[in-house]
Amino acid sequence: MSALRLILGDQLSTSIATLSDIDKQVDRVLMVEVSDEATYVRHHQQKLVLVLSAMRHFAAELKKDDIQVDYVRMDSNANTGSFSGEVKRALQRHHYDQLVVTEPGEWRVREMMQSWQKDFDVPVEIRDDDRFLCSLDEFAQWAKDRKSLRMEYFYRNMRRKTGWLMEGDKPVGGEWNYDRQNRKSLPKGMTYPRRLRFEADKITRDVMQLVKTRFDHHFGDLESFGWATTRVDAQRALTHFITECLPGFGDYQDAMKTGEDFLFHALVSPYLNIGLLDPREVCEAALQAYEDERAPLAAVEGFVRQVVGWREYIRGFYWLQMPGYERSNFLKAKRPLPDFFWTAETDMNCLRQTIDTTRRHAYAHHIQRLMITGNFALLTSLAPAEVEAWYLLVYVDAFEWVELPNTHGMALFADGGLLASKPYAASGAYINRMSDYCSGCRFSPGKKLGEGACPFNYLYWNFLISKEKQLKSNPRMGLAYRNLLNKSEDEIDAIVQQSEQFLENLNQSDGQP
Ligand SMILES: Cc1cc2nc3c(=O)[nH]c(=O)nc-3n(C[C@H](O)[C@H](O)[C@H](O)COP(=O)(O)OP(=O)(O)OC[C@H]3O[C@@H](n4cnc5c(N)ncnc54)[C@H](O)[C@@H]3O)c2cc1C
Ligand code: SF4
Repeated sequence: MSALRLILGDQLSTSIATLSDIDKQVDRVLMVEVSDEATYVRHHQQKLVLVLSAMRHFAAELKKDDIQVDYVRMDSNANTGSFSGEVKRALQRHHYDQLVVTEPGEWRVREMMQSWQKDFDVPVEIRDDDRFLCSLDEFAQWAKDRKSLRMEYFYRNMRRKTGWLMEGDKPVGGEWNYDRQNRKSLPKGMTYPRRLRFEADKITRDVMQLVKTRFDHHFGDLESFGWATTRVDAQRALTHFITECLPGFGDYQDAMKTGEDFLFHALVSPYLNIGLLDPREVCEAALQAYEDERAPLAAVEGFVRQVVGWREYIRGFYWLQMPGYERSNFLKAKRPLPDFFWTAETDMNCLRQTIDTTRRHAYAHHIQRLMITGNFALLTSLAPAEVEAWYLLVYVDAFEWVELPNTHGMALFADGGLLASKPYAASGAYINRMSDYCSGCRFSPGKKLGEGACPFNYLYWNFLISKEKQLKSNPRMGLAYRNLLNKSEDEIDAIVQQSEQFLENLNQSDGQP
């Protein structure tokens, strides 16, 4: 029995189910660089380099391990440009008794794989992706009969299941969640860890050339590329994070600072999402630092919660809600994406900084994604599909299973509260508290209305006013709506008028750079 074993660009783990029973004598691994996947949204140039370079490195490692690899490069003449076309050609090149794959990270690709059974003459086996700690069946079981799917309860289950930070059936330290301690502003004069960036080797340089030639019109800078493209380097990045950044990770998780693009964040999401790192090893490294007293409990708990809580929850949630999740639009948002999402040319400094970081690194940290660009998209009713395409395209770690729930549910509240209990809407005061952006801005966060007022201030109230029908009955919005009652009619009129003027002036793009 010989098998063709297809490995996708986000399945670069030697432990992947596709390879678990490989027979090196007769089986072959198929890896394909296809233009359909590079262009169905115009991915950031750094994301293309990361995935293609990591694929080529991974193929080289498999070959070193005497595994036969059938590798199709993007620039190969006969390349059909699609997964289906390339699987078909591979099945014609050699005889196989079976096609083995692991479930992909996107509904669209799973549908495609399911059609292969009837399109091709060999049996197709789609295996579960057991690199996640919670299987899709287990998540569906947890979600069954629950009125609400809040992450916190899922997370506690995962803590019990793994035994991580547990003393018997109680959480270490007495609390499940130390998030309240994780919202400090950055003290003056603080120094920040220098981050490991990796020199491009020959393989990466070749891929950079390919991307420059074929995808130069895609969003983003290539010059500052510094991501790891091998497992060994990804492990070095993890070790660097654990030793240099984890101790400060918790305290300053929500902070933002001009010129400090990464602060204490882990920068491991691209490696986790393409398979260079495993979520277990990442959590275990943090737990070891706690055991060795190299990092405090609040930081380690905060990090473990992100990986074993949020990341696993988001993945289970995506597959539970698909298909159709992306079509909901609870707040009836439909404004096109403004041009400055591509150019960063806006007077609003917080947006300028966040979009500029995104352009330079294909990265912005969670609070920038949620409370700057996400908050702006929410308050200005940008169309969910356009915002989602943007997030999927601009971030190096963006794959639909993780990007869609975070954008559609968490940032835009487009699912009406399936994922988040209330919209993450905030005025300029929050941004001013958590960042130094406002001091470099032409607007003033302390000014509510009139010339020079921070747009987030009036847009926040305008959002509450215009979405009252959908949001007023939400118990977690009670305080916000009670505060709205304190505003005079004149003030409300002025808020609405200034917001409408602002929204009319938002220049609009065609949705892609
Ligand atoms: C609108 C929006 C879109 C997002 N899109 C993506 C995306 O496409 N891909 C992606 O991996 N993350 C996404 N996130 C989640 C989060 O912002 C990133 O995982 C994080 O910024 C990655 O950087 P880091 O590795 O430095 O993370 P850290 O802040 O250091 O966190 C550690 C790890 O926890 C995990 N994690 C933390 N929060 C989340 C979350 N909400 N969902 C899933 N995993 C989480 C990640 O694997 C991350 O590497 C999005 C968040 C928002 C608000
Ligand atoms: S003043 Fe308003 S627009 Fe300017 S940086 Fe602060 S929050 Fe952003």
